[in-house]
Amino acid sequence: MKNELLILAPLPDFLLQPLLAAHVCHDYFHAADKAALLAQVGAEIRGIVMSGGTVVPVGLLEQLPKLEILSVFGVGYDGVPVDWCKAHGLRVTNTPDVLTEDVADMASALVLMTSRRLIAANRFLQAGGWTQGAFPLAHALRGKLAGIVGLGRIGKAIAQRLEAHGLRIAYHGRAKQDVAWEYVESLVALAEEVDFLVVAIPGGAATRHLIDEEVLAALGAKGTLINIARGSVVDEAALIAALQNGTIRGAGLDVFENEPQVPEALMQCENAVLLPHLGSATHETRAEMARLVVENLAAHFSGAALLTPVC
Ligand code: NAP
Repeated sequence: MKNELLILAPLPDFLLQPLLAAHVCHDYFHAADKAALLAQVGAEIRGIVMSGGTVVPVGLLEQLPKLEILSVFGVGYDGVPVDWCKAHGLRVTNTPDVLTEDVADMASALVLMTSRRLIAANRFLQAGGWTQGAFPLAHALRGKLAGIVGLGRIGKAIAQRLEAHGLRIAYHGRAKQDVAWEYVESLVALAEEVDFLVVAIPGGAATRHLIDEEVLAALGAKGTLINIARGSVVDEAALIAALQNGTIRGAGLDVFENEPQVPEALMQCENAVLLPHLGSATHETRAEMARLVVENLAAHFSGAALLTPVC
């Protein structure tokens, strides 16, 4: 007999099709009457599939008495109440490693786009500006200092890329690691030192607004903020003010506090490069992430070890 899954996010076809082939899937995300769907199928649901950006309230989990596993189509699982899941014997899986290189590529692209003002230069050319004169000079990368906030899988891959561009690397995290890069215990002290502050930590309550007015003031007018982590990590109102006032030089952002809504004031900032959460958005990587979701569920329901367990 097929197991019943609740689908909490819009999923691409290359993930949905194998899920439909192996399980009975109920589309909670698109359901017009979610309460009616839960009343109808909630008692039989054994698995949940969601994306990295999905927030799953405990109140929903409490309505699924047979739930065993939540499979996240993403590496970040800040939308999952992990402690509650552990306490109730639920398994959680995510999709680490397979997306690391793409996300790190995006972070280093944002460093290049902000320092060399590539988006503005592209707009300048397309608007015919080149025939009137040269585009203004930008800033070189070599010799500059990048501070990685959260030197995990993605943070390390970013550091390697930025070293190749001639930057020096320092990092901040909850603990010093066995790496050659300089560890800075205080986030504010790291921000004061660096030219680029690159955020690569998990989202969630523990890191909410870690990048606040004080950190942005420390980053200062020579500094650029790069965020490929989660929008929640940055106090977006404080960031907009810092960009408008020239408190910091610029920002390169792949993530926002209230996606897909981006404040108009942020979109108006000439010194910001904004991307619609593209970190892992390649055919190759999303296919690997989908494979992990499918194989984790298959492993769980066949009693085998999970491939990439969170808990
Ligand atoms: P990871 O390997 O777990 O790395 C996270 C790092 O953050 C660890 O080094 C951890 O180090 C540090 N950290 C955790 N909590 C911290 C805190 N409170 N203060 C300071 N540092 C903290 O995870 P990953 O695979 O690199 O992914 C990182 C995040 O990137 C994900 O959680 C996700 O939100 C985001 N992401 C974004 C995209 C995108 O499309 N833009 C794609 C994938 C992932 P310590 O434990 O030593 O402190």
